Amino acid sequence: MARFHCPLPLSVGLVLDLPATAARHVQVLRMQPGHTLTLFNGEGGEYLAEVEHMGRSDVRVLVREHIVQEREATQRVHLAVGMPANERMDWLVEKATELGVHRITPLMTERSVVRLSGERAEKKQAHWQAVAASACEQCGRNREPVIDMPERLDTWLARQTVDASHKDGRVHAVLSLHASTQPLNALMPREQAAHAVDGVTGDWVLLNGPEGGLSDAEDAAARVKGFAPVSLGARVLRAETAALAALAMLTLA
Ligand code: SAH
Repeated sequence: MARFHCPLPLSVGLVLDLPATAARHVQVLRMQPGHTLTLFNGEGGEYLAEVEHMGRSDVRVLVREHIVQEREATQRVHLAVGMPANERMDWLVEKATELGVHRITPLMTERSVVRLSGERAEKKQAHWQAVAASACEQCGRNREPVIDMPERLDTWLARQTVDASHKDGRVHAVLSLHASTQPLNALMPREQAAHAVDGVTGDWVLLNGPEGGLSDAEDAAARVKGFAPVSLGARVLRAETAALAALAMLTLA
């Protein structure tokens, strides 16, 4: 069934005009009065709604039912990643959303090619958030991941509080190319079910370098902060491949 992100207050019995983007999609699908579609606003669950009226550009629907259903991953993953250039960041946001990422912080590092600030940064952030929303429409998630404003790695790292004993249930890891690192899944907490809160059994912060990799100083700074260095194997993956492989390892496990 057609699913649309509808960032408005929703409740059963409400009659509303769909936001422009959703209305356009409904027009393209040539839906008719009486047809049913699914709406979600990111505040929990999804809603079945019926098309009441198709105007030239407006679409009016009646919200009929609230379905309490989430499709979130049991591992909550916050991905902090050196931004890849151009459409590869769009691609990363889309795929990471499908794989269940909870939050993405785009980072600018020593070797980053992409640098964004001010209005350009705000525009990009809004664009990526929209990419995430449409990935949620596609994959069935009713909760959108948060895409942060792009930030410098050093300032981001300075704000992280890491409990190396993992007593707070959160694992901080840096995906590192340096030899003798442990595999990421070695950090999977063993007795996960015991810690389940809202179905979430693991909480991760993953730092992933940019295309050019983290500098030695950045890698060291992350370790000093308490990020555990982890490896994804013997091959050097592109930044976005590494991020998605790590996510898949955790969220599909
Ligand atoms: N061009 C760089 C490679 C960068 S790889 C170089 O040759 O040094 C980009 C990022 O992806 C890395 O900073 C790391 O965070 C992650 N990554 C890629 N392959 C990895 C692997 N095998 N193990 C752990 N992290 C990896």
